[in-house]
Amino acid sequence: MTTQVTTHGLLVGGVESPSASGRTFEVIDPATGRSIATVADAGPEDAAAALRAAHDAAPGWAATPARERSRILRRAFDALVARTEEFAALITAEMGKPLADSRGEVAYGAGFLEWFAEEAVRINGRNTPAPSGNGRILVTHEPVGLCYAVTPWNFPLAMITRKVGPALAAGNTMIVKPAEATPLTALLMGRLFVEAGLPEGVLSILPCSDPTAVSDTVFADPGLRKVTFTGSTAVGRKLLARAADGVLRTSMELGGNAPFIVFGDADLDAAVDGAMAAKMRNGGQACTAANRFLVENTVRAEFVERLTARIAALRTGAGAEPGVDVGPLITDKQRANVAALVAEAVADGARVTTGGHELAGDGYFYAPTVLDDVPASSRIVRDEIFGPVAAIRGFDTEAEAIERANDTEYGLASYFYTNDLQRTMRVAAGIKSGMVGVNRGIISDPAAPFGGVKWSGLGSEGGSEGIEEYLVTKYVALPAV
Ligand code: NAD
Repeated sequence: MTTQVTTHGLLVGGVESPSASGRTFEVIDPATGRSIATVADAGPEDAAAALRAAHDAAPGWAATPARERSRILRRAFDALVARTEEFAALITAEMGKPLADSRGEVAYGAGFLEWFAEEAVRINGRNTPAPSGNGRILVTHEPVGLCYAVTPWNFPLAMITRKVGPALAAGNTMIVKPAEATPLTALLMGRLFVEAGLPEGVLSILPCSDPTAVSDTVFADPGLRKVTFTGSTAVGRKLLARAADGVLRTSMELGGNAPFIVFGDADLDAAVDGAMAAKMRNGGQACTAANRFLVENTVRAEFVERLTARIAALRTGAGAEPGVDVGPLITDKQRANVAALVAEAVADGARVTTGGHELAGDGYFYAPTVLDDVPASSRIVRDEIFGPVAAIRGFDTEAEAIERANDTEYGLASYFYTNDLQRTMRVAAGIKSGMVGVNRGIISDPAAPFGGVKWSGLGSEGGSEGIEEYLVTKYVALPAV
């Protein structure tokens, strides 16, 4: 089959254009390893143009009535939903996930535009009498200012809408630097906003092959007020250090190492369904993916047997093919990383019950895998796997399960299955993570605050908390009358 290679410009000031340097880079389909598009490669001059456009647009956008900002977000939401198939096909082409997962991402990503269209008109303050009797306390919330968003490849649409939605709703301008692997979805989303009536310059999209060149220019601008990042903890640390120079507001959505606990009293059918969703959605390439299965030893053999049967039956292949459950990994390097984690776990004493090997062919495929008896000391228990591998170990008591769940530097998502209400309350309180799923394998919701603790990050995206990240608080001391 011949692949049609398309060419795309970057988006600055509402206009798509080549990069100032004229350089381009290739977008690779991970299912074939072949180029599917050529994209303008933004550099310092393009970043400077985006900064100028953002500064020019800022006063007008901040002064635009909230109702009008809300309507633009709503139009973008409606257009995104109407174009679900187009966006889903593009996500699958550049990122690899099966079409059903891509459609799910479009619905999830659009949900942030809908939610923040509703939040835009509810940015309220307060006006209270000072308890001293000495005047009144007026509190208002204003846009934080120019925001810089750096986003990952694993959810090429939703990780951007969950930043763009609240930033625009709050009256800010934003420059987005999408991941090198997935610039096409970001650009299409940027064009959708232009069509929805977003004024020029409010939102720019700067795809680039070298993230530091664009970032250096943006960070050097004294008008930058906020950096919002989703990606690895290692890069998050670097951006936090950069943000310190400008004393910037930051939101950091970083790596995870989610425990998935199955207690002996759980509904095992539901637990296996939840495990499939928490582990295999996006081929395991999700920050919320279950990374460590902890199963009470009384039910472990049965759980392993049932999960193995379900995972062995998954169909791996190009995401665009009908009936495919698991797509490729994003790069050959990421596949090699998954293979190394599995090989080390096996050398440490883990037992492969299905999979455990790469799949032949052009793309970056790895067989869906289950490992049982994974020792606590194995690297696969500490590191983010980011692939279709379920690593299981047993436990005997609730206290042991909580202790093992918390034995990580990360604290993003966690999951547990039990039918005991008292235990539900104890374990939900005992687990140190920003999000806890109870008898559920999928927890993400635009209306809920998404975020981690410890090395998993700072701040929340989504929910009513999500817009607060893009506002600053002002106190006006009013005189007594
Ligand atoms: P990554 O950290 O390698 O890259 C993320 C982004 O940072 C990309 O746009 C990349 O170009 C950019 N970047 C890399 N180095 C940079 C630098 N020096 N300066 C400026 N920008 C730089 O992460 P990834 O591989 O794209 O994504 C996977 C990671 O993202 C995983 O760790 C996953 O857990 C995490 N993630 C977290 C969440 C969350 O909400 N907590 C959601 C999705 C993914």
